[in-house]
Amino acid sequence: MSAGVAILGSTGSIGCSALQVLARQRERFRVVALTAHSNAELLARQAAEWRPAYVGIVNGGNGEWGKGKGSECLVEAATRPDVRIVVNGIVGAAGLEATLAALRAGKRVALANKETLVMAGELVTQAAREGGGEIVPVDSEHSAVLQCLTGRPRTELARLILTASGGPFRTWTKDRAAAATPEEALRHPTWRMGKKITVDSATLVNKALEVIEARFLFDVPYERVDVVVHPQSLIHAFVEFVDGSVLAQVGFPTMELPILYALTHPERVPDAGIRRFDPVAAGTLTFEPVQPELYPAYRLGRAAAQAGGTAPAAFNAANEVAVQRFLDGAITFGRIAEVIEAVLAGVGVRDAGSLPAVLAADAEARRLAREAACS
Ligand code: NAD
Ligand code: MG
Repeated sequence: MSAGVAILGSTGSIGCSALQVLARQRERFRVVALTAHSNAELLARQAAEWRPAYVGIVNGGNGEWGKGKGSECLVEAATRPDVRIVVNGIVGAAGLEATLAALRAGKRVALANKETLVMAGELVTQAAREGGGEIVPVDSEHSAVLQCLTGRPRTELARLILTASGGPFRTWTKDRAAAATPEEALRHPTWRMGKKITVDSATLVNKALEVIEARFLFDVPYERVDVVVHPQSLIHAFVEFVDGSVLAQVGFPTMELPILYALTHPERVPDAGIRRFDPVAAGTLTFEPVQPELYPAYRLGRAAAQAGGTAPAAFNAANEVAVQRFLDGAITFGRIAEVIEAVLAGVGVRDAGSLPAVLAADAEARRLAREAACS
């Protein structure tokens, strides 16, 4: 029988890509639940096409589906008995509760929503252990790592090297980048994605989030998670083993492949919709070190990671506020890192082993970030 899939954030970039993948895999999977934040029009079109048993909207619509409304719809969709896999394509901290609930209910969570693993990595991995659920990454770098590691004992893993495109300002001076407009920051060189992650790719906050994500997904210490700038985004990650051998996963940039793999892992299934790799068309692959002075927010993220406890939650929350302010035109691009820095200097680091502690750290960091973004 086909496996039931819930897509949280079905109207977003990841959600729409997931539906593209599922349209080619109708024998293996069926869509049983869709949720969105406020794009009622697109959600209605998706619901008409897929006829899922459950449709939920957090904010908006006229209750025309007679189904879930408000933020409770996320947990409702994620824990339904007919759901085996939850694709979490929500952006930001709003996805946390549904991930925890799904893992406690023993589901596989195909996780794109990296922010929640960053803010509550200990709680999320604990929920998976206790509930029998499984976290399978959708993020392309982590999918690459998982693909290289699958079938090998973790004791053979020596080091991860995540690749970063470097974003649109890789070749700019620091001063020019500091004054960049939202429009410029949203012009990503290799990927088409939602606005928040696109800005995170320009600051390299995205890569700091991914380093923390890797630590919780693969249980590797931070000293063994390196990052290299690779502007072509063709190699998604390298995995170095204890004997010095290195495996990499390669492909033209598309989220459809990592989404499909998150659904079928550890199996692979045919998919005629994926552009086949061609090394000649790919051309030259280049690699550069991360320039720390060009990406101050990346440095702050790595420091928050090292500090541990609630520091990653504070880093993530400060960044979410700063990016929104930047997109609203309230602060400049260069201020994003300054806001994060002010927040991290102002918060205390506490144990992140309980949900109230994590939520308190998140709330405090948001408050400090809003203050810092006004000054
Ligand atoms: P997006 O902005 O395109 O879509 C976000 C989705 O989340 C929308 O469907 C929206 O309705 C929903 N949403 C937003 N706020 C919500 C809330 N408060 N409650 C419930 N639902 C809410 O974002 P995206 O680019 O699809 O990214 C989604 C997640 O996937 C992010 O965590 C991002 O870092 C991660 N990710 C995205 C890509 C990509 O290629 N887009 C790649 C790797 C990882
Ligand atoms: Mg990524």
